[in-house]
Amino acid sequence: MPKATETLLEIDLDALGHNFRYLKSKLKDTTKLLGVVKAYGYGSDAVEIAKELQHLGIDYLAVAYVKEGVMLRNSGITVPILVLHPQAVNLEILIDHCLEPNLYSKLVLDQFILASEKKDQKDYPIHIKFNTGLNRLGFLEKDIASITDKLNTTNSVRVRSIFSHLAASEDLLERTFSLDQIASYNSICEQYLQLSDEKPMFHMCNTSGILNYPEAHFDMVRSGIGLYGYGNSDEHSKELIPVVTLKSVISQIHHIEKGATVGYNRAYTIKNEWEAQSIATIPIGHADGISRAYGNGKGWVTINGQKASIVGNVCMDMIMVNCTDISCREGDEVILFGRSQTAEILSQSVQSISYELITAISQRVKRIIVKK
Ligand SMILES: *Cc1c(COP(=O)(O)O)cnc(C)c1O
Repeated sequence: MPKATETLLEIDLDALGHNFRYLKSKLKDTTKLLGVVKAYGYGSDAVEIAKELQHLGIDYLAVAYVKEGVMLRNSGITVPILVLHPQAVNLEILIDHCLEPNLYSKLVLDQFILASEKKDQKDYPIHIKFNTGLNRLGFLEKDIASITDKLNTTNSVRVRSIFSHLAASEDLLERTFSLDQIASYNSICEQYLQLSDEKPMFHMCNTSGILNYPEAHFDMVRSGIGLYGYGNSDEHSKELIPVVTLKSVISQIHHIEKGATVGYNRAYTIKNEWEAQSIATIPIGHADGISRAYGNGKGWVTINGQKASIVGNVCMDMIMVNCTDISCREGDEVILFGRSQTAEILSQSVQSISYELITAISQRVKRIIVKK
């Protein structure tokens, strides 16, 4: 890649292909893979990621909201798209775009049946979610009979899948809890099959579920973070390649003498024990997704292979970093995170997680697609 001359988010589709193949290698041939492309493809570019996943042969995609699914359909994505959290007000738009809803409560199931009848649908694919311990969205085990009774009153919808979600699949200290969730889910699936004539797909695992609970792969698994190159543990992350690299450039370098301060609220002082320090200004700030939490020495960037810590407060459009001991010049490339300084490591410096850091990169940052 040529060196960055402005702030850029590089999206490496070859890395996506590697992660796709790695996750597939963990599955039986008969297990389907759903790629999660919500939140702009975890902060990258949902359309480019979805197109590449479609090209690689992904079985299903998922987004959180209807609007995200509409964007994919309008860009020519044809694989089935599960909408994880549809709102009542958007159900007809969802049908108009051949998106498939997660129906997680009696209210939203009733609302969706009304919408599909109004639009004269027959066997419209729906997905029913069960809450097995995350306590976020989903029916309970005791609701099964009322769901199948309700579904027997209409032919406007047909259940494509019954699914659930693990609460702590990445945390091996919570193994007992996860195994209990898997057992509850198995019991829900068995009861459902007894009351229904058709066999829907079953799925429960997110990325860490795929890697830690092979016994819970069922008919399909759902991966987000793994496809983007993060495995929630050193052991798994080392097999994956981060898809996005956030780069910028040094706009200006100041040589600042002792006693002076840097940035808003004079949060950083060149202490008396130093004669002077070199401070580089970088054109990326909290409006681009580098939150103020990374300021005041918590976060860092990499310049010519060396770490430069962020000094003072993160501004809206800029950060200042200490480059005193680094051989660098105005115009040099700066790496915020990528393959070696990963988003996982940087996010840990502020007690956050890779998910939060990568999805925060705002739409102001230019996206560049890399593919050999
Ligand atoms: C976001 C999401 C996923 C993907 O989780 P990862 O940990 O990123 O693999 C899977 N299932 C549901 C229901 C989700 O909301």
